[in-house]
This record gives sequence, C-alpha cells and structure tokens, in this order.
Amino acid sequence: MENPATNPSGSASSDPAQLDPQAPVENHLQQALLYLPDLDHGLIAMLSLPKRVVSVSFPVEMDDGSLQIFQGYRVLYNRMLGPGKGGIRFHPQVTSEEVTELAALMTWKCALIDIPFGGAKGGITCNPKSLSDNELEHITRRYVSELGDNIGPHTDIPAPDLYTNERTMAWIYDTYDLMHGGRNNLPVVTGKPVDIGGSQGRTAATGQGCFYATERLIAKGGVSGLDSINNSRVAIQGFGNVGGVVADLFHDAGAIIVAISDSQGGIYNDQGIDLKAAAEFKQIHGTVVGLPETLSITNHDLLELECDILIPAALSGQIHSENIDRINTKLVVEAANGPITPAADRVLNQRGIPVLPDILSNAGGVTVSYFEWVQNIENESWELDEVNAKLKRKMVHGVDLIMGRWQQLASAITTVKTEAGDATTQPIQEPLTTPPGLRTAALAIALERLARVTQERGIWP
Ligand code: NAD
Repeated sequence: MENPATNPSGSASSDPAQLDPQAPVENHLQQALLYLPDLDHGLIAMLSLPKRVVSVSFPVEMDDGSLQIFQGYRVLYNRMLGPGKGGIRFHPQVTSEEVTELAALMTWKCALIDIPFGGAKGGITCNPKSLSDNELEHITRRYVSELGDNIGPHTDIPAPDLYTNERTMAWIYDTYDLMHGGRNNLPVVTGKPVDIGGSQGRTAATGQGCFYATERLIAKGGVSGLDSINNSRVAIQGFGNVGGVVADLFHDAGAIIVAISDSQGGIYNDQGIDLKAAAEFKQIHGTVVGLPETLSITNHDLLELECDILIPAALSGQIHSENIDRINTKLVVEAANGPITPAADRVLNQRGIPVLPDILSNAGGVTVSYFEWVQNIENESWELDEVNAKLKRKMVHGVDLIMGRWQQLASAITTVKTEAGDATTQPIQEPLTTPPGLRTAALAIALERLARVTQERGIWP
C-alpha cells in the first residue's frame, strides 16, 4: 500500500469559512445572474432574501437535572412553487445564517428537479454526540412545539439532515400530531420510519440519486478521461447516511473505494476498502479510523488524494482556497451541501474539473421526500422499485437539462467573445469570458423557473 498523503495537509485551517468568507449562495447566485441579463431586478431582489426566519430558544431539562437553553431556527426561503421543504440539522455550528443559506439551496434544488415545493431549512445549535437519546427527544419535541404552525403538511415540511434521522422525524410527527389531532398529519414531515408513513427508499435516496446523477453525467461524456464508474477510483469524505450509501452503490457498480472518513479522520487502501468491515468497525468503535489493513489519513489528506471521483459527503466549505491547488481528481460530486467555497469553485472551473453541483447531485433526498408526501396524502405505499425508477427518471432528466443548458451557455460565451471583439469595450460582458460550470447552468434553470412562476402567479395586491 502506498502512502496516499501527497503533502502534510493536516495543517490546513479547520475553519474554511475564515479562509473564503464570501457567502456561497449569494456568490453562486450572482454568478448565475450574469447569464440571465433579462431577469427583472425586483425578482432578483426577491430571490436574494428569505421569506421568513423563525428563531426560537427554549429550555430543556437534562438527564442530570440541570436546565439548558437551546437555540433553534426554521427558515422558509421561498414558497412560489409550493410549501417549504428542507431538512433539520443538529450541529454545534448551526446559525441563522447557515440555515438561511441552506434554505436558499433547497429553493434552487426543488425548482431545478421540478418538484412542487419551495425551499426551507431548520436546525438546532447543539452537539448531538454529547446528548443522550432522552435529551435528543426532549430537544426535538420542544423545538417542534415552539415552531407551532410555522411547520405543517401544506406550509413547511421538515426532513432529516446532518445528525438527524428517521427516529428524529418520528418524534417530529408525533409531537405535531398531538398538537393537531383529528386529521391526517403524516405529510407534515418526511424521512419517517416506513412503519409510520415513511417511503421505501427514502433513507438511501440522497446517495441513490447521487449515484444515478454521476452515472448519467459520465455516460453523457461530461467527465474528461472517465467513461465509466466501473474501475474508477473514488474517495468519499463522510460515512454517514449519504456517504455510506454512496460508498456501497459506487462499489457495487465496480468502483474502487480507496478512502472514506468520518469526523475523527479517514482511512485509505489503494486496493479498495472493505466497506462491510468498515461499517461493522464503526458500529463497534464509533469511527472507521483504525480499521485493519488501512492507513489512517486526515480528512484533509482524503480530499487531496489522486482519484477519479471525489465525493465530499459531510460538511460545507471543505474544499477551499487553501487546498484547492492540491485537489487531484477528474470529477467532484457534491453529495454534501456546499462543500466547495465559491473561490475554490472558480479554480476548479478554470482547471476544467467538472463539479456535479449539490442542488442536483443530492436532490434525490428531497425528491423521494416529495414521493413520501404524495403517498401520505393519498394513503398509498409504493414499492421500492417504483420509487427508485421514478427517482432515476428525475435525476437523469436533471443531468440532461443542466448539460444542455451548460452547452448553451458555453456557446453563448463564444458568440459574445466573437461579436464583442475587445472584451474591455464591453465591461458588462467581461465576467462571461470565464466558461460557466455545471452549477451555473443548474442555477440558471432554477432561477428562470422561479421567475417564470412568480410572474405567472402575479404579485398580489
Ligand atoms: P450524517 O449525520 O448521517 O453523516 C455525516 C457524516 O459526516 C458522518 O460520517 C460524520 O462522521 C461525518 N463528519 C462530521 N464532521 C466531519 C468532519 N469534520 N470531517 C469529515 N467528516 C465529518 O449526515 P448525512 O445525512 O449523511 O448528511 C451529509 C451531508 O449531506 C450534509 O451536508 C447534508 O446537508 C447533506 N444532505 C443530506 C441529505 C439527507 O437526505 N440526509 C440530503 C441532502 C443533503
């Protein structure tokens, strides 16, 4: 086994937000708007702001009898296409700003993948690892009761995200149902256990969608030097719900998973990691680090490995201006939300490394959440094959759409350059001389759809 660490990158800053302080969503939005010169300014202003930000603080009695105050948020960013939709995360770094950014991402995601939801997100600032099950349940239930009618089956519908899961969703459903008895409340939250209205395939949906999207992008020739997932070398940051499923699916399709990681570090095996053994090891030891026949690496090392497909599936801001020059892959698949800072995104774009953007690559979760919501309303339960077939159609269509749009945008640049001659005499077109990435194409589709629907609905009064 070779030592994978090409340099001692463990020294990189642990707070990438400090390295690249630009607000990613606003930055990406501005970049896409360069390609949409006809979009109404009022609409742009509307799309740049959240509709509603709810902040709640509440006390919880801890297991030792002490009282602790928790801070929670729920942001409804936009509801033009339908009720708000978005996960709830439990993490020490949750802030109102982070939740708002993620709610904006959900808005673009739902518009791009074409499901009738607006964008929302929620979170509680806490360290779930230091909390007992009992404390987590109390925090969740009290948060839901504090939110009151800010969530609801036809207003704003939560789902799982970082460090929340189907058990959390069951508590949310139960609390809301107790507060609103006498009606079908199942569609108030998605990602529930199958026994209480959850959809087949929801837990794996984000990873499954990510796989379908990557497979399609490669099949369409979107990744230079890579014609199949089979035999590709894949590094995955994060081994949770999304990262774990992604690892299994890529492995089953013939990929060699050379590295995986969790919050405590990563592991590497040049010949491929035994994923079943890794999952069992993590179950026992709480981490994959230390799995026999692997080398221990840092999370920074993992990102800089030479590989064909790099899949950040953990936190935001992981690929940033300090490590971007050492990223050594043919494709980055954003399984996590916002894992690449805008500064790093520009460099990847200039280097010609395609990025399958989060608003498409991890849209499988919200897509199957939509399927769950439909099943709950209709009191139906679809088979797994049916769910996955519908999901695949959505993901494949999404990739085809953004690739088509990307080609259109890229050729528009050529035209602009030819017609403009000296770009400096056309300052407004000057930023367009950099070719757009897939993210810009995806955002352009989403923003146009939102603008079109807003205009069709009209502004009242
Ligand atoms: P999860 O809690 O199941 O797993 C998170 C993983 O990240 C764990 O393996 C954890 O150990 C690892 N991790 C935590 N801190 C880390 C660090 N500092 N360095 C490296 N790894 C670290 O969460 P998830 O549901 O898998 O979500 C992962 C990402 O995917 C998040 O960005 C989330 O917003 C996004 N996402 C999730 C869903 C979903 O359906 N769960 C949908 C869309 C997007």
